Amino acid sequence: TQFEEAGIHPVLVENLHRCLYAWPTAIQCYTIPAIHEERDVIGIAQTGSGKTGAFLIPILSKLMGKAKKLAAPRPDIAADWNPREHAVRAEPLVLIVCPTRELANQIFDDARRFCYRSMLRPCVAYGGAPARFQREELQKGCDILIGTPGRILDFMKQPHVLSLRRVRYTVIDEADELLQADWEQEFKHLMAGGGKFGADALSPTQCSSVPVSDHMTVADMNEDSDH
Ligand code: AMP
Repeated sequence: TQFEEAGIHPVLVENLHRCLYAWPTAIQCYTIPAIHEERDVIGIAQTGSGKTGAFLIPILSKLMGKAKKLAAPRPDIAADWNPREHAVRAEPLVLIVCPTRELANQIFDDARRFCYRSMLRPCVAYGGAPARFQREELQKGCDILIGTPGRILDFMKQPHVLSLRRVRYTVIDEADELLQADWEQEFKHLMAGGGKFGADALSPTQCSSVPVSDHMTVADMNEDSDH
């Protein structure tokens, strides 16, 4: 298929076929080669144009190629998994920030389907739902974190739950929404590495020492948006 020809990892190609994705949409045709070359990307596309795949497919494909080396250390997730004994701190490789829990869940569903039979483990973190289940999932190991700024910051503040020091790809979905007044402060705080929250948080200095080519941003500015 065209996904194979575009150099997508075979495990992901198989998962895309399971999702009945036969060939990339227009925006995916632009982003797949650009992200494979480690370029920073700003994507602007209509809702329904395959924007989620436009960032997930190339990022997950790249990570699957390196998964053995990069995947987070994690305990065997057994039925008797117990946070007191088996918890690890989540150190995701990919951070996907979005403005609503509905969007976080949609991205999470796609990420789970795309990561099937790979070493990569996605997790979600959003407000308006109890933190405990989300925290325990993070503490089973997390490679791809999808969430809203407030809850992500909360988890960074708690000891041994979440550190962003290994993040290689940052995706900002619906960036126009995140820059609206309601979110702006928390979002900017998160992008600055969580500031003063805990020694493990990515400090602004560490953040700026990350080479720009290691970071990728997909912003979604809906063309029909009235902001
Ligand atoms: P999105 O714009 O990410 O919300 O995607 C819109 C819809 O298109 C979703 O139902 C996706 O599952 C689907 N989709 C995304 N990429 C593809 C593709 N390459 N082939 C077929 N369906 C796709």
